[in-house]
Amino acid sequence: MHFSFKTTFLGLSVLLFIAACKGKDEEPLPSCTGVIWGYEDTDGPDYWAELCIDYTPCGGPVQSPVNLLGTIYDPTLTDIAQTYSASGTHILNTGHSLQLNYDAGSSVFVDGDTYPLVQFHTHTHSEHALYGREFPMELHFVHKNAATGKIVVIGVFVEEGAENSLLAGFIPYLPATKNGTYDDATATFSALSFMPADKSYFKYAGSLTTPPCSEVVTWVVMEHSITASAAQIAAFKMLENENARPHQALGGRTIQYHKG
Ligand SMILES: [Zn+2]
Repeated sequence: MHFSFKTTFLGLSVLLFIAACKGKDEEPLPSCTGVIWGYEDTDGPDYWAELCIDYTPCGGPVQSPVNLLGTIYDPTLTDIAQTYSASGTHILNTGHSLQLNYDAGSSVFVDGDTYPLVQFHTHTHSEHALYGREFPMELHFVHKNAATGKIVVIGVFVEEGAENSLLAGFIPYLPATKNGTYDDATATFSALSFMPADKSYFKYAGSLTTPPCSEVVTWVVMEHSITASAAQIAAFKMLENENARPHQALGGRTIQYHKG
């Protein structure tokens, strides 16, 4: 009896030891150089965190996008201070989305820091949802503070409706292939023209919605949408396909609401 107990205990210990070693000896993830990610089965959002070492944040606790639910009105928030100048037109097809790189000299001021506007790009359909409602398109205006590495992204929902005169100016020139570009420094526009007239927004701490999913983003998602025609939305969707990451768990985060 005594012997048998010891044998069982020893056997169990060996099993536990093997299990622990197996966990430790798993192959380390490879470098991300040359790693291809996308939105399909094997390279899609469910696998990003396991593709390579620098993409592990994609499995982190404060990821984006989210379904904007349970938002809390915060009377201390103010309209986002946007100091935007005009920019020439610099379009890039990244292979994941259509991106417009923005000339230097524009910024937002959020939580005591200045964040220069670097680029904006499109997702079809929307990445965030507003109380469960999804939109056919979402614009992301990416502002980066180079000193801190922190990022502010302003999200603007696009719903199907009247033609968007700003997008109309870009659509004939959207590059059809990955890494394709179109440049016209004299064709200027202001990102401010894309912003809804009503300045109400939702604000929460999150991440980039694409690898490496860095958890350095203060998200500002405008409550009110802008419009584009069905044909305009289709023109973007045809080139970038489906490029919306699924909603991520909110966890213990709160979503603040500012009434503009
Ligand atoms: Zn985006």
